Amino acid sequence: MTPIEQARAAIRQQMLIGGEWRKAQDDATFDVFDPATGNVIAQVPAASAADVDAAVGAAREALQSAEWRHMLPAARERILLRLADLVEAHGEELAALETLNQGKLLPWSQAIEVGGSAQWLRYMAGWATKIEGTTFDTSIAFPPGVRYRTYTQRVPVGVVGAIVPWNFPLAMAVWKIAPALACGCTVVLKPAEETPLTALRLAELALEAGVPRGVLNVITGDGETTGAALVRHPGVDKIAFTGSTEVGRLIGAQCGQDIRRVALELGGKSPVIVLDDMDVEAAVMGAAGAIFFNHGQVCTAGSRLYVAKPLYEKVVAGVAAAAEGTVLGGGFDANAQMGPMVSARHRDRVMQLIDTAGPEGGEVVAGGKRGEGSGYFVRPTVVANTANKPLTLVREEVFGPVLVAMPFSDINDVLRQANDSRYGLGASVWTHRLDRAQHAIDQLEAGTVWVNTHNMVDPAMPFGGFKASGIGREHGRSAIDGYTELKSVCIAY
Ligand code: NAD
Repeated sequence: MTPIEQARAAIRQQMLIGGEWRKAQDDATFDVFDPATGNVIAQVPAASAADVDAAVGAAREALQSAEWRHMLPAARERILLRLADLVEAHGEELAALETLNQGKLLPWSQAIEVGGSAQWLRYMAGWATKIEGTTFDTSIAFPPGVRYRTYTQRVPVGVVGAIVPWNFPLAMAVWKIAPALACGCTVVLKPAEETPLTALRLAELALEAGVPRGVLNVITGDGETTGAALVRHPGVDKIAFTGSTEVGRLIGAQCGQDIRRVALELGGKSPVIVLDDMDVEAAVMGAAGAIFFNHGQVCTAGSRLYVAKPLYEKVVAGVAAAAEGTVLGGGFDANAQMGPMVSARHRDRVMQLIDTAGPEGGEVVAGGKRGEGSGYFVRPTVVANTANKPLTLVREEVFGPVLVAMPFSDINDVLRQANDSRYGLGASVWTHRLDRAQHAIDQLEAGTVWVNTHNMVDPAMPFGGFKASGIGREHGRSAIDGYTELKSVCIAY
């Protein structure tokens, strides 16, 4: 079978609720597109509030049955390891399905969506047997003669509503599912309406791996109806959301109102700072990779480039040349170096933002236009903002292959500019000097600071945002803390 045939064979067009494949109760569906061609590739259920209620009910029942929560931790670990093995065993079809639906190049689907998901599942599987509490010597003096033993234990937070975006559909789903399941929670996952297909196949593999029915449910639908119904549902104990800051604000407000646990992984406008001791070639490669990886559809994309004045023209010219030389094409095309935007709507938004650059005083030195063909292509774009004007592109997240570049002469001044953003997700500094790197690390307001690299993540490394980039951290021990409640126990004797 060709990769496209493999992808088509892996398409599931129903939701998984309580271990059963279901249509929407009112039979409503919506179209799913191939962004490289604009063709419809599937029709999946548009879940209504009634379907959300059924999924949350199944997750609650599975939580209360305690089969998963009270399973021996080593047994939960084994099931998650089995799921990782199944993800790898079905890696070709999952990668092809992601490329067909999301548009990313097939090697990236293989490495990040499949390889990354297996890695995250294995790492989090290991946590199932390492969830621990602390014992305390307390000084409670009453009543006289009574002594106390106190300790904490961690218990699953309960039913998790996980809402994820379309940029890394399978990986983002696994970032939430893997720690939640390791902790003994049950999950209702809502993938993005643009990219629901790999999540449905993953849920099927989870059943095969031995995840009990109802522990992982996947509902398909849009944000306003399906997502909002999940966020409002009183049977959900925690919402774990990755997406835009605008939607995160709505979700945070609703969860605040309901006193529901919430984690928000939101947008970014991450600075890339090249100091004057850096070599131009490394800076060009680093800056181009930071913004153009995954077609710029990365929350930590290095979308603001600050270059020390002596290197500015050379670095900007180098990144512009890399952009101009990029071959656009569908994700299955072995010659393609960059694929399409995920949807026509997103392509139009990226183009609108690019079109603000010229009138506001920026100079488009590469790209600036749509790519050819019926797919949703945008040429990688570099805007020189040599006069350091307050362009829209300096402030607003584009979530596309669009870089704005500024020169600077003073390190403290550039660190101030880098921090002058409502976002604080990622930042990178490029230098060979440890003193300057450490100074930047100390000053930058960002959840992750990279030195001489950008966009690198690992399941052991906490990930999340300062400021409007979010609340909470994923990965590592932070994820386990996020999917458990801390219970204090006090025993008198
Ligand atoms: P989005 O906020 O529009 O959608 C994300 C998800 O939320 C989708 O599943 C959508 O259906 C759902 N949703 C939309 N409105 C909702 C509502 N009212 N109630 C409940 N759910 C709702 O974001 P997007 O355009 O799909 O994704 C891009 C954004 O995601 C960017 O801002 C990007 O920076 C961010 N992102 C952040 C991270 C991170 O870890 N910080 C990672 C990837 C993407």
